[in-house]
Amino acid sequence: MHRVCLLGATGSIGASTLAVLREQPERFQLSAVTANSNVVQMQAICQEFQPAVAVMVDEAAAKQLQQALQGGPTEVLSGAQAVAEVAADSNSDTVMAAIVGGAGLVPTFAAVEAGKRVLLANKEALVMSGQLFIDAAAASGAQILPVDSEHNAIFQCLPAAVQQQLGHCDLVGAGVDKILLTGSGGPFRQLPLTELEQQTPAAACAHPNWDMGEKISVDSATMMNKGLEYIEARWLFNCNADQLQVVLHPQSVIHSMVSYTDGSVLAQMGQPDMRTPIAHCLSFPERSVSGVKPLDFLSLGELSFAAADSARYPCLELAMQACWQGQWATTTLNAANEIAVAAFLAGQIKFTEIARICAVALDRVAQQKQTAELNSVAAILSVDEQARAYATEQIKQVEQC
Ligand code: NAD
Ligand code: MG
Repeated sequence: MHRVCLLGATGSIGASTLAVLREQPERFQLSAVTANSNVVQMQAICQEFQPAVAVMVDEAAAKQLQQALQGGPTEVLSGAQAVAEVAADSNSDTVMAAIVGGAGLVPTFAAVEAGKRVLLANKEALVMSGQLFIDAAAASGAQILPVDSEHNAIFQCLPAAVQQQLGHCDLVGAGVDKILLTGSGGPFRQLPLTELEQQTPAAACAHPNWDMGEKISVDSATMMNKGLEYIEARWLFNCNADQLQVVLHPQSVIHSMVSYTDGSVLAQMGQPDMRTPIAHCLSFPERSVSGVKPLDFLSLGELSFAAADSARYPCLELAMQACWQGQWATTTLNAANEIAVAAFLAGQIKFTEIARICAVALDRVAQQKQTAELNSVAAILSVDEQARAYATEQIKQVEQC
């Protein structure tokens, strides 16, 4: 019986995780849940799964939840620190890291340092901390299992020896030539470039294949998501620039591929449904039911592939460059993007401003020579904060125009 701590229980990955847990109550027990502020959803989750602990970051939300759950078995805590404590405590052996954005870094890192089996959905944590994250996992013996569908696909296509050495694996030694990271191209793949500027948050969030949280949906429209995933893949699979390639695949049937030196290419395929990678990680190395139907090849239709156009997806270019520039660059990019996406969702800036704001933040950090090695979480959070300030300044300037 695995005891699972679910960070970000009220989100899209949170809901898919709960759906998989519901399929297999004899195998998994939900021991702890955390969320930002959604009391109604958290109450329903606690009443159904009866975890020992529930944390709300928002203090007022925690009070409401406590009242609603009075007399029940769930202890209610509040605050960001409590989230990190719950991620590391001994009530759970498995931690699903499904908080969105940079807020996931500290609790995910805490789970890694505590040597948990960490199911990594929160890609931003790895983008922000890279080598530190990989080193912390090696030091504590934490097992990292990639939930992000592409990384989960790549993981499934790699040999067991590589799977056991994530972050330190030897791709050349394993006969791997290239990792092929697929992406759909998002909802604006075929839109005339001149129309990108007018796109609304609702249009950006209407992903053709996947149903996800708002931030990752916008990131998919800009392809910043693929950029963050490129950085995530670099760390997980210890690859260099020649070993990593982005391929557009609009149907999202192939979730990524591994190309071997003998000419073989292994692909993992399935419905675009996160319950599959989640069930895979929860049960690894075994297989279990996820509730997802298998693909029906007779009704699939055509599968197509293309290169990503850099004029359409400047955020992808920025991320691929940042990946090889250093930790300061990926931490900065992630932070600036998060601020810019929030401003876009709030109607403060246009869709095409997201890439420009990220580029300005990267330039500013480089000009300030804040490019020293980041060898602690505190140093990372300091660059993160600075980048958020630069991005916020830019947004204010846009609003004044
Ligand atoms: P979401 O917005 O639907 O949910 C986010 C969760 O994080 C919620 O439970 C929310 O309460 C919590 N949260 C938000 N701010 C917080 C804060 N400051 N402190 C603590 N908790 C906070 O997001 P999502 O789509 O489920 O994505 C979660 C993560 O998984 C992201 O990193 C995303 O990139 C990754 N991911 C998502 C999908 C998907 O299909 N949704 C696929 C691959 C990877
Ligand atoms: Mg993904």
